[in-house]
Amino acid sequence: MMGVQDLSVVYRTRRGTIEALRDVNASIGSGEFVTILGPSGCGKSTLLKVAAGLLTPSSGSVSVAGRRVEGPSQDIGVAFQKPTLLPWKTVLGNVLLPAHTLGWDLRKAESRALELLDLVGLRDFADNYPTELSGGMQQRAGLARMLLRDPKLLLMDEPFAALDAMTREALTLELQRIWMRDKKSVLFITHSIPEAVFLSDRVLVMSARPGRIVENFAVDLPRPRS
Ligand code: ADP
Ligand code: ADP
Repeated sequence: MMGVQDLSVVYRTRRGTIEALRDVNASIGSGEFVTILGPSGCGKSTLLKVAAGLLTPSSGSVSVAGRRVEGPSQDIGVAFQKPTLLPWKTVLGNVLLPAHTLGWDLRKAESRALELLDLVGLRDFADNYPTELSGGMQQRAGLARMLLRDPKLLLMDEPFAALDAMTREALTLELQRIWMRDKKSVLFITHSIPEAVFLSDRVLVMSARPGRIVENFAVDLPRPRS
């Protein structure tokens, strides 16, 4: 589903250059859930941004579904630590944003958006504004928006990091349910080893200076698969 080939990223700053990634190679199979673990600054976010088409690498490439990633794509859904919900739009309006951008039939998109809000437990909050939601609920709204375009690949950068432990646990279970139901391919960044082991088919461990993948192992735990 996704391939990373000889990827290097060097940031240029006023004080010199920072080698964020050096010759990174990785792949994610179709329907596979892969987690990246590693210390702060090892290049996890950089890798995810390149994969999302939000950052051009210095060399190497990322391909998704056989096509080279050169910008944001409909096949790829992205979630960050804090979802950027527009405060002047309702929850439903926020989930529908991609439909506006893509010029979709809004009536069809709306029924799909309501289904997704149901899936993430926010159906009753469709007409509320983001400021009326708790952090966990905002994060769920972000997940619903990410899923609206039905991307084959989900890229998530510590999506639950800002949440309390209970909410985090609940959303982790929800994410696993969505992944199993819809057979998405997922690249997930977390600092939580239990979360990585619980969710993943495979774990990549990165080290810093320069950012490289130093371990790549399969997690062989029995888990419900549909
Ligand atoms: P992680 O997500 O693992 O914490 P990042 O990908 O954010 O790591 O950062 C990798 C390295 O690149 C770090 O040394 C960081 O300081 C540097 N870096 C990240 N973003 C930028 C940027 N926009 N400009 C300059 N350096 C950056
Ligand atoms: P989460 O687990 O999503 O962070 P909370 O534990 O903060 O949610 O809230 C539990 C429940 O309380 C929510 O499902 C919601 O019904 C209600 N709730 C929380 N915050 C708000 C709010 N700001 N406005 C309205 N209802 C809220």
